[in-house]
Amino acid sequence: QPPVIMVVGMAGSGKTTFMQRLNAHLHEKKEPPYIVNLDPAVKNVPFDRHIDIRDSVNYKQVMKQYNLGPNGGIMTCLNLFATKIDQVIGILEKRASTIPRILVDTPGQIECFVWSASGAIVTDALASSFPTVLAYVIDTPRTTSTSTFMSNMLYACSILYKTKLPMIIVFNKTDAQDAAFAKEWMTDFEAFQAALRQEEEKEDGTNSGYMGSLMNSMSLMLDEFYNHLDVVSVSSMTGAGIDDFFKAVDSKVEEYKKDYLPELEKAR
Ligand code: GDP
Ligand code: MG
Repeated sequence: QPPVIMVVGMAGSGKTTFMQRLNAHLHEKKEPPYIVNLDPAVKNVPFDRHIDIRDSVNYKQVMKQYNLGPNGGIMTCLNLFATKIDQVIGILEKRASTIPRILVDTPGQIECFVWSASGAIVTDALASSFPTVLAYVIDTPRTTSTSTFMSNMLYACSILYKTKLPMIIVFNKTDAQDAAFAKEWMTDFEAFQAALRQEEEKEDGTNSGYMGSLMNSMSLMLDEFYNHLDVVSVSSMTGAGIDDFFKAVDSKVEEYKKDYLPELEKAR
């Protein structure tokens, strides 16, 4: 079975650009991927997609018809799409022997997908038919402060526990900001604490604040979370690091077979 790579991350983190880069890279290697777009609100998709939520639901029309705002519109489109997921899986399974990989782009509003019933239905359907790996894309230049870094990691952590799928953390936009600081914070707890103290002192001249102690205890929890992750730095702009990403995918597919699949079979 070909692996499914689901690209998730905050709006603006670069999911679509990352997809575009993966697509270009795989085409160059003569291993073109099968592409699924699950973002009903996206205007232009800068690559060919084989299955597109926009072919079956019209976001603008759904918003008008049901009198919904942007998030409600995305949710309703996902609900409508989820009712057809069997057909989608059927199409993918028919193609499975001839496609090396399946790439899935998710809605810009990550919470619409991760925390909705239909998002879960779509994810579970894919994950029970194919080895499925999550790529959590992070906007590296925007995560250089300890607090944004921490919230991003907590978000990733909650997605991991919700889906229980193998996850790769993708530090994107490394052409604009090197991700070495982030990798250090993830491997060296004391380095992260030192950065915490430094930032606090900059803000209010003290180092005993509530946020500091809260973050200290949370980072102990995150330490455990980090052990389950693969981390790669990429630039979707220049293509740097993309080979590392595919190596990480291979290792996470093994993890899927070892950890996820047995759980799935037990549940059946
Ligand atoms: P999405 O909302 O997660 O799908 O994000 P997009 O792919 O639409 O990208 C958001 C913005 O980040 C766009 O302006 C992109 O040009 C920019 N961007 C994406 N990847 C990179 C990158 O690797 N480097 C830089 N410098 N900018 C990037
Ligand atoms: Mg996008």
